[in-house]
Amino acid sequence: MLEDAAPPLPDKEQNFSEWYNEIIHKAELVDLRYGVKGFIVYRPNIATIMRQTYRLFEDALDEHGHQICNFPVVIPLEFFQKEAEHIKGFSGEVFWVTRAGDTELDKALLLRPTSETAMYPLYAYWIRSYRDLPLKLYQSNTVYRYETKATKPLIRGREFYWIEAHDVHRTLEDAVKQVKEDMKITIDVLHDQLGIPFLLMERPEWDRFAGAEKSYAFDVLFPDRNVLQIATTHLLGENFSRAFEITFEDVDGTKKYGQQTCFGIGISRIAATIISMHGDNYGLILPFHVAPTQIVIVPIPKKGQNELITEKCEEIYHKLKDRGYRVKLDNSEDRPGAKFYHWELLGVPIRLEIGPKDIEKGMITVFRRDKRERIQVKEGKILEVIEQLREDILKELRTRREKDLEENIHEAKSREEFLEIAKNRGGFIKIDFCDNAKCAEVIKVETGGYEVRGKLYGKEEKPKGNCIICGGKAKSVVYVAKAY
Ligand SMILES: [Zn+2]
Repeated sequence: MLEDAAPPLPDKEQNFSEWYNEIIHKAELVDLRYGVKGFIVYRPNIATIMRQTYRLFEDALDEHGHQICNFPVVIPLEFFQKEAEHIKGFSGEVFWVTRAGDTELDKALLLRPTSETAMYPLYAYWIRSYRDLPLKLYQSNTVYRYETKATKPLIRGREFYWIEAHDVHRTLEDAVKQVKEDMKITIDVLHDQLGIPFLLMERPEWDRFAGAEKSYAFDVLFPDRNVLQIATTHLLGENFSRAFEITFEDVDGTKKYGQQTCFGIGISRIAATIISMHGDNYGLILPFHVAPTQIVIVPIPKKGQNELITEKCEEIYHKLKDRGYRVKLDNSEDRPGAKFYHWELLGVPIRLEIGPKDIEKGMITVFRRDKRERIQVKEGKILEVIEQLREDILKELRTRREKDLEENIHEAKSREEFLEIAKNRGGFIKIDFCDNAKCAEVIKVETGGYEVRGKLYGKEEKPKGNCIICGGKAKSVVYVAKAY
């Protein structure tokens, strides 16, 4: 129903990669000309989306008894070396600081790839008694990993934005509860506020976070049928508390090791997910909660009546602003059509168009970005309609993505069927599996990179046959996919 020109972007379904590379430039999200591989510049549009995303998670963490803190970006080598598994997992991707001014440092420092080894030596000082527990702290920061795989803006870089929460509990039971709370926080934000569906996976033994007893991860499906891990929570148990001497005197006077968890929320990756999942060939489609501008008002000018139109637009603008909406009145010189194009590209969820005919009839034209539909609304009902639309848009976005995810979970009953799906369809492939790392390696080699992502958390799925790879006894149903 729109009188518009061809979409400004390549077809997302046909060529996601090209679509993605164009939208991040056209919507002025990032600039890749910084000149250091894996390091990119976040422009205001994406930085604002990320700030809103940070707030959603920070508010949820605060509400669940966490406190914010800030640790240094550098970690001394002797801290980093304390937990053996952890060094093994990360040493290959660490950036080192070895020089300051003209002086070689006698003790090398590293840029945090994650902050367990920065925070836990201090936790050992702070925790003395069971009264000091639980300790629940998080940082909103950047971490640095020397990725050797191909980098992709916001998806895989050498610097990324995230939140890391590190908790210490008195009992293992409390730590397990913490992991569940971390899951709930993530589900609430991703599902309820961002319209992002996911599979929550228990990672296989060989793919756990370095030093963790259990790792749980949120995997999302991208339009090209590859998957991306966007948040993880780990049960660390006593692995780190033993290495870092995090002990406390319990109620009965005995000395015990703290039971730990850590929780990572990939903010830049969630931004990439919002862009990729919800966007279309006309640009971004932002969920209300993170949109830098939630409502834009575009005046439709007419000679001789422009004063009246401006007045009405300003009146509506203030009404919405007073309600707490992030609203913009586009008073620029551009033609309305150019303004529509621009704000659609930026993903503003709701646009109001106000012209002489609307004013005459006491109406406002409301455009919803997700469906690209216009409706006529009585001026007096505008707040009510917007209130309803913010829910409807989110629901529409979520439903689309849920359908997409559902359609891309395939079940393979034999090795041949599995290889056929991997080759031609992608997405998640459900198989009966022996839980053996060797079979996971076979999968990787034969499919050119598919990985066993794990078992679905919270849903007991029993294998019906044997492992489809080796024919041995199947122990679980796992989901296999190609990850970024
Ligand atoms: Zn097997």
